Amino acid sequence: MTTLFISDLHLDASRPQITRTFVDFVHDEAARAKALYILGDLFEAWIGDDAGDETSDAVADALAGLHARGVPVFFIHGNRDFLLGDAYARRARMTLLPDGSIVDVDGERTLLMHGDTLCTDDAPYQAFRTQSHAPEWQRAFLARPLEQRRAFAAQARAESVRYTRSVADAITDVNDAAVVAALRAHRVRRLIHGHTHRPAQHSVDLDGVPAERVVLGDWYEQGSVLRCCGREFAMRRLA
Ligand code: MN
Repeated sequence: MTTLFISDLHLDASRPQITRTFVDFVHDEAARAKALYILGDLFEAWIGDDAGDETSDAVADALAGLHARGVPVFFIHGNRDFLLGDAYARRARMTLLPDGSIVDVDGERTLLMHGDTLCTDDAPYQAFRTQSHAPEWQRAFLARPLEQRRAFAAQARAESVRYTRSVADAITDVNDAAVVAALRAHRVRRLIHGHTHRPAQHSVDLDGVPAERVVLGDWYEQGSVLRCCGREFAMRRLA
């Protein structure tokens, strides 16, 4: 049986076609899988479990249906949906995993991350991440009225687009030393992550031992799925 990994779907009411692609994927391929791992940025933005819309409702229904069929669903927060909470996870029947979890995938200990913590050259982003992951910051943000939270998210997105265009590509990609440090710290030889939207399978020299870093693709134009079965890996695009 196949274990599936996806990330960076960026689901949003403004792009209903991709939500349909995702729901079809859940009903079809994912329904026959051993497990589904969602490595962050399932949603384009998440301003609180109390701010759901028809997109988040449809996604929760689809994932809960998967759980009912006996397919476990695991979720690691991304930088867009880091505020997704226990209430929504319960509704979607998915298990929240910490960023940097190790799972056994057909006998291979595999490190799973969203990937943003590996982009250590991006100092302004890392500063915002530290601030916005503090429990006090999150409590204060979630206590603000919905309209204020919506306005904050829209502004953050616009600034992110401007910023990403203004800096060199290397800044927003992972730092190689951070990758090696993560593999070494967790004593694994395989890492799967998303975030950078640069799907690839990289060989990594880990102190003379071959290791690998698999990067998932985003769902802006089409679906992207990593299938893992034994030692076999395959990245697949979904129309
Ligand atoms: Mn991301």
